[in-house]
Amino acid sequence: MTSESRAGCKVVEIRFNTPYEVGEANVFLLELDNRLLLVDAAADTDECWRDFQDALAAEGYSVGDLAAILLTHSHPDHVGLVNRIAERRDIPVYAHPDAVPRLTRDPDFLSMRVEFYARLYREMGCGEAGERQVDKLRAALSGNDGLRIRADITAVRESDRAEGTVVLEVPGHAPDHLAFWLPGSRTMFAGDHLLSRISSNAFVEPDRDGRRLPSLSNYVRSMEKCLPLRPARVYAGHGDAIDDAAALIEHRIGRIRKKAESVRGLILGGKSTAAEIAQAFYGDKYGTLFGPVMSEIIGLLDFMEAEGQIRSRYADGIVTYTA
Ligand SMILES: [Zn+2]
Repeated sequence: MTSESRAGCKVVEIRFNTPYEVGEANVFLLELDNRLLLVDAAADTDECWRDFQDALAAEGYSVGDLAAILLTHSHPDHVGLVNRIAERRDIPVYAHPDAVPRLTRDPDFLSMRVEFYARLYREMGCGEAGERQVDKLRAALSGNDGLRIRADITAVRESDRAEGTVVLEVPGHAPDHLAFWLPGSRTMFAGDHLLSRISSNAFVEPDRDGRRLPSLSNYVRSMEKCLPLRPARVYAGHGDAIDDAAALIEHRIGRIRKKAESVRGLILGGKSTAAEIAQAFYGDKYGTLFGPVMSEIIGLLDFMEAEGQIRSRYADGIVTYTA
């Protein structure tokens, strides 16, 4: 746990172990205008709950002192303790409107989402590997009730104020991703939008109507949007805070362009479906990390197509690409 004061506001970073593959996740206590805010809420485990209360106590607070919760995005390693807090204290919970069906585990939305992936993987030529992934997603639907956030959500959008912070929409890693910005100290609470050690996945997701979002193109735009703000410090959802966001953003976008160039090389070499490209690019990981691998390749293909570098063609239920 680290604690520091910046331009009149106090920030306490708390690191939690989570049961997710990512390992540790950060949440932040932010004391702003004499109100205690919580940015993100770790995972829903007894260990996180105990560690959270210990961290509050170490700073002289308790759950009863919390004035609001600000959620950067709807992923379960960022929202886990919301129900436990809301059961004890009725406080506003801010999130993007598109986070609502995901946080409340809306059954219609989640069924639509599974069908979205079923069709996507079919069209991308994934065959049996895609069907296996969809079977897993379908089986996971029954476990959704345990993940349902029961607190009322206060929906906020670009430029809205949330408890003295300015809301920025930064879709990409998640379609409902927000950053909370303090213009005075040029401080950003960025969730998984920017991470110091690992690049964020821009997961392919449907919008509310089941259309595929251009996640990677959105992600690049969201990173570029942060540059003119010249953040002095970015507090991230995993790992250390970032003091040179501009250099990191340039680096991340450069890496994406390089990967896109490699994918284009595979297409020029004769690979034509997203599944073929993913297998050539990632080898065994295509089988072991199917979801993230396909997400990345489809994201890169959409990104390049939007830039006019490649073309897609839909015939007989399959999408093929040419460069
Ligand atoms: Zn995330």
